[in-house]
Amino acid sequence: MPKTSTASNHYDVIIIGAGLAGLSSAVRLGMFGLKVLILEKHFVVGGLNSFYAKGGRKFDVGLHALTNFPSESSGKSSPLLKLCRQLRIPLDSLNLLEQSSSRISFGEIDLCFNNDFEFFLSEVEKVFPKEKDRFQKLLSKMVEFPAYSVDAKEISTREILGQELGDSLLAEMLLCPTCYYGSARANDIDFPTFIMLFDAIFKQGLARPDRGIRALLDPLTDKLKELGVERRMNSPVKSIQTDQIQVSEVILENGEAFTSDHFISTCGGLETEKLLCLPDTPRSFDLGRFSIIESISVFDGHPRDFGWDETVIFFNKSDKFFYDQPKQLVDLNSGVICLPDNYGPIDSSEKKEAKLRVTHPANFKLWSELSEQKYQKEKCFWEDVILQNGLKYLPLGESKSELFKNRTHLTDTFTPCTIKRFTSHENGALYGSPTKKRDGSTKFSNLFIAGTDQGYVGIVGAMLGGIAVANNQILRNL
Ligand SMILES: Cc1cc2nc3c(=O)[nH]c(=O)nc-3n(C[C@H](O)[C@H](O)[C@H](O)COP(=O)(O)OP(=O)(O)OC[C@H]3O[C@@H](n4cnc5c(N)ncnc54)[C@H](O)[C@@H]3O)c2cc1C
Repeated sequence: MPKTSTASNHYDVIIIGAGLAGLSSAVRLGMFGLKVLILEKHFVVGGLNSFYAKGGRKFDVGLHALTNFPSESSGKSSPLLKLCRQLRIPLDSLNLLEQSSSRISFGEIDLCFNNDFEFFLSEVEKVFPKEKDRFQKLLSKMVEFPAYSVDAKEISTREILGQELGDSLLAEMLLCPTCYYGSARANDIDFPTFIMLFDAIFKQGLARPDRGIRALLDPLTDKLKELGVERRMNSPVKSIQTDQIQVSEVILENGEAFTSDHFISTCGGLETEKLLCLPDTPRSFDLGRFSIIESISVFDGHPRDFGWDETVIFFNKSDKFFYDQPKQLVDLNSGVICLPDNYGPIDSSEKKEAKLRVTHPANFKLWSELSEQKYQKEKCFWEDVILQNGLKYLPLGESKSELFKNRTHLTDTFTPCTIKRFTSHENGALYGSPTKKRDGSTKFSNLFIAGTDQGYVGIVGAMLGGIAVANNQILRNL
């Protein structure tokens, strides 16, 4: 039986989840003096973008790249600057290190990019000279399309690229990084999200705070403390109580109950509907199914010792990009490599150790059905296979395999089951449901969805989504 709620258990806003969306929402609401409670299932903040320690070292779970680096051309309208202003976190305090250069690699064809959009344009022109005019036309179409509006039409990017471009390889190469950095749809990405990610990756660019994700998480949690926002960790919400019109209360797994005027859930659309426990109500969010496996190697020295000076490499074996849940445990045909030590200027001081991260699509269902013993065995097997496969896409990587292995002193791998554990997303779906609700509204007037299932994905997107729900759905109506 739920324990009864008392006046001290009543809040202006209750937020489910202390990921980047939940934390950002809470800071915004706290700034306006509201009584806010965050309920988080885990003992650490950050959700998908958290950190953990292994072998005495700290690992970021998510952070490959902070997108939307505020380039000169994006100026004050840069989404990253906007979120720093809204949360009163000085951009300088993040100590952003820019990417060196990155690459999209399809078979023998490479498209390189860095934080200078003109360079990317020149690469497209060099590799696809016949596409120059059509690509320019596509860029104009993207500028004119109201991608950032809450009611932007979710049309298929594959179809649009098919109509606008003459060379299907260019279309596939553009889909690869944008899907990997934020598509919940199988084999496609909706056009507004494609535009937002294209802007975020190519027009603005990639960077990394020198302290990793803690450079964002620490100021957020410090601010919550200053503002008197309550945060309860290890507090999974078991159910959300409703009278069919409004939400009244949340109940934790331990039976504690909390009432509030407003509720924001950042645990996913479908997952929130399940917490509402309304078995006869049809679900409005579809089940997502794209998940990943990532293997991390910690090695002695610096990537440049091996001649590897790029930051992120999106690779695909053939000229057709397949982005979906694979039929086997792991799909080796495409993936992402990140060398996080290749952010920032070339450091003359000798670097003691560095990381190599290789990511591939993976099947949640197959991983989750393995017994504990089999799971550990498969994880160990794939860790090695993934590394060997990734090395193929690094300059002379295969020939340096033995040397690299000898210099590697720690490895770790997370699977779709780890993603499920960190986020509670059904199916371990990396980017949640393919159904998105941009304005965060639900059929209940005081319950809102924020973060991943708003459709603003990635670190910057999740934070801006959380801020938008706080501003537009709650603060504006007070
Ligand atoms: C491996 C990986 C690499 C990534 N790399 C990048 C990157 O390089 N750059 C980038 O921009 N983005 C990256 N992302 C994506 C980015 O991390 C996410 O888009 C973003 O963090 C989502 O934030 P969120 O707050 O919406 O959701 P989440 O981070 O999923 O937070 C939701 C929170 O809700 C909690 N929760 C769930 N259910 C309950 C419940 N019942 N009760 C209480 N709490 C609950 C969860 O524990 C979690 O803390 C990456 C993601 C992964 C997995």
